[in-house]
Amino acid sequence: MKTCYWKLVASSNNAAAHKEAAAFIKAGECIAFPTETVYGLGADGLNEEAVQKIFAAKGRPNDNPLILHISKKETIDQLTTGLNNNAKAIMEHFMPGPITIIVNKSDIVPEAVSAGLPTVAIRWPSHKDAQDFITACGCPIAAPSANISGRPSPTNAQDVLEDMDGKIAGILDGGPCKIGVESTIVDTTEAIPVILRPGGITYEMLTEVLGVVEIDPALHGDPNFKPKAPGMKYRHYAPKAPVYLFEGEATHHLSVCVKEALNKGLTVGVLCDENTAKNLPASEKIYLANWGCDKETLANELFYLLRDFDRTHPDVILAQGVCEEGIGLAIMNRLRKAAGFQIVTLANDVLLLNGREAAMEKLSQLNFIP
Ligand code: AMP
Ligand code: MG
Repeated sequence: MKTCYWKLVASSNNAAAHKEAAAFIKAGECIAFPTETVYGLGADGLNEEAVQKIFAAKGRPNDNPLILHISKKETIDQLTTGLNNNAKAIMEHFMPGPITIIVNKSDIVPEAVSAGLPTVAIRWPSHKDAQDFITACGCPIAAPSANISGRPSPTNAQDVLEDMDGKIAGILDGGPCKIGVESTIVDTTEAIPVILRPGGITYEMLTEVLGVVEIDPALHGDPNFKPKAPGMKYRHYAPKAPVYLFEGEATHHLSVCVKEALNKGLTVGVLCDENTAKNLPASEKIYLANWGCDKETLANELFYLLRDFDRTHPDVILAQGVCEEGIGLAIMNRLRKAAGFQIVTLANDVLLLNGREAAMEKLSQLNFIP
């Protein structure tokens, strides 16, 4: 299939492009489009056959439900049996914006969208072109991130094309996404709202408006808990090389571990802030992803940097964790998944992998104990 391409011009009326792309949606095809978080792969959310094409293009397991995107408040009434006060408060304070609410679904939402669940995920993006495109389509747009399942989400049109060229009807190129990590997902169907996936709207922002907010305990990788968002159980955002995530005090030992890996003759991808980067040895065998000093920049560049490691192909990737305040919670959630929960911490001056010295075979092969 030929994938059509439309270049959008920032802060201008791109109506002709939206209209042409919307014609494909009405014909039951898939179109990739920009949002403030990441690029989405959209199809008519009320057309079961069109929705199936999203799963096929991404290679997405069909037990993983999709988010329905809307471009005006009223559309939500057709998609749900009703909103409680928490859902209404989120809509009032944070929509349009980088947040998704889980609500009880109405009968018009196809089974393929909700993957058989009695609930549906709804998002109203703030990106002007996303809104205008959805309005031109005249239907709710089912859209997961526009990547092959398991790969980092795309935050620019080139990354979408890398995964989707020839598989979808077209792409609207709106340039790089502003936020860079996916929307916060909040389940509003119980009395206490629960964050199922952290994102652009932070825990702190939510508690200020809603009072008590819980975080799905499965987000910390504890195998005793099953994630409430089915998609969170899959390995995700993962570059091809193994990733070790250094958390807390262990981050101070990252540069020592890089040297150890170099001594072993390995090439090393390093994802770290400016201060850590300064302490690294000069070596052509280091592929450095230095994100500077503020977490918003890291959120914005994270998926691009993870994808870039697949272009440079290091033997191993060592990533520095950040504190979990604000957008840090979303960053650490994505990094922990990219690392497949291979987490390095420090206790009593000894580096531990996944909290256990005994389980250190992989790490000690690299002599990572300082
Ligand atoms: P994405 O592929 O980035 O669009 O991810 C969408 C996320 O929303 C996945 O983790 C899904 O499992 C989750 N999701 C969608 N619908 C629901 C729902 N009804 N209940 C819980 N999680 C949902
Ligand atoms: Mg995704």
